[in-house]
Amino acid sequence: MPNDESLQGKNSEQIASPLYIFQSRDEYINQLTVTQINSSSEEKNYDDCIHIFIDKKKGDRPNYAFSRLSSWNQTVIRSKINRDAIQFVDRFWWLQTAWQERLKKGSLREQFVVGVNGDELDIYNFGKVLSDKEKTLFQSIIGRVASYDPTVFQNGLWIGLHDDEMGNSKEDEPITVAVSYTKKSFLEINQAGIRDGAVDIARLHEGIGDFPVLQLVLPHELGHFVAVLGKDLSQSPLFRFKDPWIAATGWEIENGKWVLKKSKAPSTYALDAPDEDHADSLVYYLYRPNLLDDVRHKYFTARDAKLDPPQVTMERKVGNRIKLPVAPSAKLAYRLM
Ligand SMILES: [Zn+2]
Repeated sequence: MPNDESLQGKNSEQIASPLYIFQSRDEYINQLTVTQINSSSEEKNYDDCIHIFIDKKKGDRPNYAFSRLSSWNQTVIRSKINRDAIQFVDRFWWLQTAWQERLKKGSLREQFVVGVNGDELDIYNFGKVLSDKEKTLFQSIIGRVASYDPTVFQNGLWIGLHDDEMGNSKEDEPITVAVSYTKKSFLEINQAGIRDGAVDIARLHEGIGDFPVLQLVLPHELGHFVAVLGKDLSQSPLFRFKDPWIAATGWEIENGKWVLKKSKAPSTYALDAPDEDHADSLVYYLYRPNLLDDVRHKYFTARDAKLDPPQVTMERKVGNRIKLPVAPSAKLAYRLM
């Protein structure tokens, strides 16, 4: 079939297929094992399945119900399962559309396998190749956060770097340069967060001083992981209201909005919500502790592992040495009504 590619091929720059191997979203979905369960008694054998599709009326797990229509056939069932499987695979960043496109285009330049006390963190760079200065900065910031809370690296985190603009931020806020996805163990940073001179985001961090933006952005994002993966807090949303951070700093919900009732947030950005306050306060604690109020200073001092800066190693891999993660295999089971 003639397609755009064959028409453009001669005039446009040829894109060589990337040397690294990656699993596409379709490949992943196709290899998911799908089993039909015939009776409710069989369900207990499928406890390790990701989704069990059962009768909404009778089942005690009402998430997925398939009403059997006369027109149903294996194709219809498969397409419904695929729809759910896509939601499932969206838990993995490299299977998401934007990253998949970047991988296909071959724009993954380099991987850094960062060793932190025997734990690993991967940096996948889809942007400009990092300079030695930038690599050193990554290493020292990761080491600084690890000296506060090494547990945050135990689950294996990923950092994705790229050149693209990031999603909208509120009008009165600076451009978004980094986002953390704590449920996916992944954070992304764009070029403005890495290069010197991107002063815009420092606008809401009065008094933070004159240091590279990465030193504000990276520990801030890692601070979100400290809050959900580290030794600090529980992931449960219910638990968060009892969270010692909220109690210590005096955040309360008023008319559906978070309001800081006592204590002093270190930055304007921190006034957004307790999570942002925690993430920003950690940055100040690590790099400008004298600018924190007593409450925050005590909170972090009490939880500081106070380790000597750990040995952080950074191994660069390019081309076919790049190792991309592979999604864990999963089973899907369904039962028709
Ligand atoms: Zn944040």
